[in-house]
Amino acid sequence: METEVVIIDEQNIDEKALEALKHAGEIIKKGGLVAFPTETVYGLGGDALNPESSKKIYAAKGRPSDNPLIVHVADMESIEKIVKEVPEEAYKLADAVWPGPLTMIMNKSDAVPYETTGGLDTVAIRMPSNKIAAELIRQSGGYIAAPSANLSGRPSPTEAKYCVEDLDGRVEMIIDGGQVGIGLESTIVDLTVEPPMILRPGYVTREMLDDILGGVSIDKTILSADSGVKPKAPGMKYRHYAPKGDLTIVEGDPEKVTEYINKEIEKLRAEGVKTGVIATSETRDLYKADVVKSAGNRDDEEEIARNLFSILRQFDDENVGCMYSEAFNENGIGQAIMNRLLKAAGHKVVRI
Ligand code: AMP
Ligand code: MG
Repeated sequence: METEVVIIDEQNIDEKALEALKHAGEIIKKGGLVAFPTETVYGLGGDALNPESSKKIYAAKGRPSDNPLIVHVADMESIEKIVKEVPEEAYKLADAVWPGPLTMIMNKSDAVPYETTGGLDTVAIRMPSNKIAAELIRQSGGYIAAPSANLSGRPSPTEAKYCVEDLDGRVEMIIDGGQVGIGLESTIVDLTVEPPMILRPGYVTREMLDDILGGVSIDKTILSADSGVKPKAPGMKYRHYAPKGDLTIVEGDPEKVTEYINKEIEKLRAEGVKTGVIATSETRDLYKADVVKSAGNRDDEEEIARNLFSILRQFDDENVGCMYSEAFNENGIGQAIMNRLLKAAGHKVVRI
């Protein structure tokens, strides 16, 4: 299949852009797939209420079919059709953070096919704030099922070129809306349990949810290395975001971390292994690896979040065999950063 790539400026959705989005909407309504930007990462969209579209999404990504998709909507009224009942908490959360990077789990209605929910009786719903995404949802009939627009197991795409890399020839269209703002996937909160439970950390933090709802719990598997415990979000059990090379996180006193990593790199280089380091602006010049990437300033979690997945992909492009990453602090979105980094590293952490 020939994949059409169209460029749209989110800040200037003019007549031409609207035409393109209408065309993209037609593709989705007819059962086709379109990759599109959201504020978190790029999504791979199909009609959420069409079981054939969801099957195509799994096939295009090579995604296990027990890993449910998130249904994207553009307004609050749309939710009523796809859930049994809208819980009180959903209105509170929607008021505070929608449109935005939060996904809510509710009990699904019969309108949502099991193909979309991976066989579950619950459905994950999000209202993205990206204007291209919102218009595309409206043009597509109101319900777009969209996981991240990467091949299963690869880091989520933060730029359209990564969608092209993974999905060229597998989808009808890719909409290039530039680099995304956040860079990590949405926070997921399950509203079918009491108190609501965070299943995946993201830009919307536990503190923010606590403030809005007056108490939430958190799935214990999120930051633990215990692979014996099954996470509540089916997708979280997979080794996502995995770079091709071997990644280890090194945690501890910054000076000692640098010293340890440089020693390991020296050994690996003697063995002829190509090495890489994920550093910060403060430390990038201290490393002797073949490829050193700064994720950003140590105290700027938002910058680090935006850069992380792209860095993992760049290491793949440069065929780095062995990588080390500094551990990042867990303020704000930092918890989500460490959650994704731990998964990328297969929970390999050295504490010194
Ligand atoms: P992705 O869109 O690729 O970030 O993946 C969607 C994530 O949402 C996966 O981790 C899924 O397991 C999770 N998810 C989607 N629907 C549900 C649901 N009904 N219950 C729990 N987790 C879900
Ligand atoms: Mg994903």
